[in-house]
Amino acid sequence: METITTDVVVVGLGAFGSAALWRLAARGVDVVGVDRYGLGHHMGSSHGATRLFRIACQEHPGLTPIAQKSLELWTALGETTGETYVRQTGCLSTGSPSSRPVSGVTAAAARAGLDVTHLDHDELLHDFPQYGGTAEDTVGVLDPGAGICYPEKNVRAQGEAAIALGARVFTDTRVTAVELVDGGVRVTTPTVVIEAAQAVVAAGAWNGKLVPGLPLRPRRTPLYWFKPKDDASVSFSLDAFPAFIHELPDGRHLWGHGSDEDYLVKIGMEDSGANFADTDADTVDRYIHPRGDIEQLSSWVADAFPELDPVPVKAIPCMVTNSPDGQFLVGRPNGDQRLVIAGGDHGHGFKHAAGVGELLAQITVGETPYTVIDFLDPDRFANGAPVDAGTVHAGSVAAVGA
Ligand SMILES: Cc1cc2nc3c(=O)[nH]c(=O)nc-3n(C[C@H](O)[C@H](O)[C@H](O)COP(=O)(O)OP(=O)(O)OC[C@H]3O[C@@H](n4cnc5c(N)ncnc54)[C@H](O)[C@@H]3O)c2cc1C
Repeated sequence: METITTDVVVVGLGAFGSAALWRLAARGVDVVGVDRYGLGHHMGSSHGATRLFRIACQEHPGLTPIAQKSLELWTALGETTGETYVRQTGCLSTGSPSSRPVSGVTAAAARAGLDVTHLDHDELLHDFPQYGGTAEDTVGVLDPGAGICYPEKNVRAQGEAAIALGARVFTDTRVTAVELVDGGVRVTTPTVVIEAAQAVVAAGAWNGKLVPGLPLRPRRTPLYWFKPKDDASVSFSLDAFPAFIHELPDGRHLWGHGSDEDYLVKIGMEDSGANFADTDADTVDRYIHPRGDIEQLSSWVADAFPELDPVPVKAIPCMVTNSPDGQFLVGRPNGDQRLVIAGGDHGHGFKHAAGVGELLAQITVGETPYTVIDFLDPDRFANGAPVDAGTVHAGSVAAVGA
């Protein structure tokens, strides 16, 4: 079997891994990337055409600079490729004034010094008549810098940018072992062995199979698309119905965005703990079940947006990977200088991908990270230590899929 040597090997070229490959190659690092599938595939967590892109991140104050770094890097990449990687439609957070979307984004914007627009109930219904069926105390907060981004397109662009900068890539190549050896790592695949000084492991829902002991739980979480009823009197186009997180009066959460020429209205629901299930990434159920997968969301959509047909036109499985406190794991497990990990996306990671890739590159080459990332330290749960309350921002349970 062929053995190659390199400075850094990146295992997994999805959202985080392709970004790490790109940012390492941009620094002139000799880097090799490996993925069991291709760039921009539909078997992991980074597929389904779009993801919400938010900057006023209610999940943790430390996330805003990472989203801003993604925006900066993707915008610069778009200037060279002529593509758009973030479309800033704005994101509307709605619910009662004390609801998690409204209070969370208000607090996040205040902390980060971001301008947001507050809409009282009448203003909300005037500007966004799609919310006509909501409770009378429903208000809105519009984060104008937010919008949507594109998982397959952005992953491919990151990977292609890395290749253009000299990165070597093995696709359709499954890593069977990541071994820490004297002076570095040995990454084994069925066709090639890669010896490197360091490995960045960003295997998404498969992370726990390659780096045992990480406190990660993959969950099967489908994606859904809807169409307006034929007689809908309001528009559900993306311009009229931008990215949103909506809390119904009983606390149920929906998220999504309007349709464009390339996709329909996308709506998903927050993981309440009962509506999705833990899974094994190798055997995840890729079939959509009418009752288990569709009935509950349909009833929520009917309650929230009566002008939409509540039966989805399309649904496909996907996976999120949860961590105990809802935040990612980015850094060196056990402080080991041979290994960097990125995972635990907890359903809100895509918008941060390029920013996380930059952090992974900085950690790997020993630069000072551009922002404080203690709250992402993979060792924060070590020795069964309870989650530090300081790392769990009030109302921080992430809305899956937002
Ligand atoms: C339904 C849903 C909705 C979401 N909505 C949003 C949203 O609106 N906004 C947002 O910001 N985020 C959202 N997310 C989260 C976001 O999609 C994820 O945070 C992100 O895609 C995770 O990227 P990743 O790099 O960790 O995983 P992936 O992109 O899955 O990458 C992991 C890669 O590792 C590879 N791999 C695994 N094992 C091996 C192996 N043994 N050898 C080689 N390669 C391997 C895989 O093939 C894969 O390419 C959503 C997620 C879901 C499921």
